[in-house]
Amino acid sequence: MKNQVKNYLQTNDLDVGFQDLNDLVINKQNCVFCGACISLCPRIGRNEKEPKLLEYDPECSTCFRYCPRTYFPTEMFEKELFNSDATKSYSLGHYQKLVAARSSDQTVLRKAQNGGVVSSLLIHALDSGLIDGVLLTDKDDNWYPKPVIARTPDEILTCVGSKYTISPTLITYSEAIREFKLEKLAYVGVPCQINAVRKLQLSSPLSDEYGKFKLIIGLYCFSNYTFDLLNIFVQGELGITLSNVKKFDISEGKFYVYTKDDSVKRVPIKMTKQYTWNSCQYCKDFTAELADISVGSVGAINNEWNSVLLRTDTGVKIFNDAIKTNKLITSDKVDLLKIEKNAFRKKTRITQIDEKTLNTMQLLDIPEFEIKTYLTLMSLGRANESLLSEIMKADINLVMSALKSLKHREWVLSSNGIYISVDPTIVINKEISNLRTIYLKKIGKLNSEVLPELESIFVRNNINQMRHREEL
Ligand SMILES: Cc1cc2nc3c(=O)[nH]c(=O)nc-3n(C[C@H](O)[C@H](O)[C@H](O)COP(=O)(O)OP(=O)(O)OC[C@H]3O[C@@H](n4cnc5c(N)ncnc54)[C@H](O)[C@@H]3O)c2cc1C
Ligand code: SF4
Ligand code: SF4
Repeated sequence: MKNQVKNYLQTNDLDVGFQDLNDLVINKQNCVFCGACISLCPRIGRNEKEPKLLEYDPECSTCFRYCPRTYFPTEMFEKELFNSDATKSYSLGHYQKLVAARSSDQTVLRKAQNGGVVSSLLIHALDSGLIDGVLLTDKDDNWYPKPVIARTPDEILTCVGSKYTISPTLITYSEAIREFKLEKLAYVGVPCQINAVRKLQLSSPLSDEYGKFKLIIGLYCFSNYTFDLLNIFVQGELGITLSNVKKFDISEGKFYVYTKDDSVKRVPIKMTKQYTWNSCQYCKDFTAELADISVGSVGAINNEWNSVLLRTDTGVKIFNDAIKTNKLITSDKVDLLKIEKNAFRKKTRITQIDEKTLNTMQLLDIPEFEIKTYLTLMSLGRANESLLSEIMKADINLVMSALKSLKHREWVLSSNGIYISVDPTIVINKEISNLRTIYLKKIGKLNSEVLPELESIFVRNNINQMRHREEL
């Protein structure tokens, strides 16, 4: 499998280009606007919400190959990144340790989103020589995210705080390497951005040139937003001037806007739902499962602390060094169950199919419950019988019998008690081919048996009338 994946990533004659990326990712609203394609190719630019082709496309395949939304070999990357002693959790991925932490630097603490662990770790990584620069997300006066390359502690501190809009943070990547000649980079981002960075770092052949990331810090993320959240909701509906906002926060089901004149506006998070970035609806990763270190606030004792998942050996080492040099302080007061609950909720979000498609699928003569089992499995990626029964809120025996029938029909595959859904193109094409065989058989019977029989009955019964017609 590893070789197949490597061949796929290395091959130079995929013969696909930006048009394919556009058709399969961008137009299907599957793009997370990470900025990888824009950074890798001078022919690709962007507007405020998506990449755009600027000029002639020689179809070199680079953008398609390195987009995290075309193909992503999760298991292969996990094998490269995590050692076998790491805990593997369904909701949180691989991690060696969960701990609560915060910065010991009052300046960082005053400015940071939560406990300032991200910024303090970066400053420590810079001071200790592990990195020589970091790709971060700053903002302009109206809170539009601004991808930047930070090379000093001050530049890192300018970027503190969460911007709840999607940011093409990777667009500065080529510049960092080609113009600033940075050799040892760090990256901070939400889980989908971390996947883009890992694909660049771990996939040959470009990783030889581009894989210079030494530290990858992921932020927990349940959902992110379009710029309409700022323009239409915050400025329009809440009537708050964006340049007067000091901080945004999302916590315990509420969206908070803190202003520079010390007022706070708090609204239920569901009011922001319509501004969600499209592909976030299908995202299953809450804790950035492929990061070296993942940082959030959920599970920490309060919002001035971070909960921290230490995943790779690189992550454990830099975190321990930061404690030894008194950059961070830690506590064991961290609520694992709370983080798992959030992550599980995100992983098990089920994409609902519309009624019309469901009815049409029943043309295939398959029970509705089996179609729903197949779709739930597709939403989850992979699951065992008890997880499916828990999520579908259905009796486990019903689920088991649906899976048995789906397996027989080749809609699902199973191995060691884990089920995965077969690619719908394969499923539907096979059903079409079965229907074609059935109908061709029926057509054959109509031609070879039914028609001659009816013709002869017709002739025998209407012979007089036919003669009459012939005479006429
Ligand atoms: C869109 C988004 C959603 C989040 N959702 C959750 C959640 O549901 N639950 C939870 O516990 N935590 C969530 N977080 C993480 C949380 O807000 C803090 O970022 C985290 O706790 C780290 O805190 P800190 O004080 O160490 O960060 P700081 O030291 O203040 O550093 C923050 C870092 O975040 C980076 N950053 C800011 N905005 C973005 C962005 N849009 N894209 C990429 N990088 C960015 C900055 O470059 C900066 O380095 C979310 C963060 C973001 C950006
Ligand atoms: S590489 Fe990133 S920005 Fe480009 S299409 Fe893919 S997800 Fe979108
Ligand atoms: S919800 Fe997923 S897709 Fe959306 S910003 Fe967060 S990590 Fe990216």
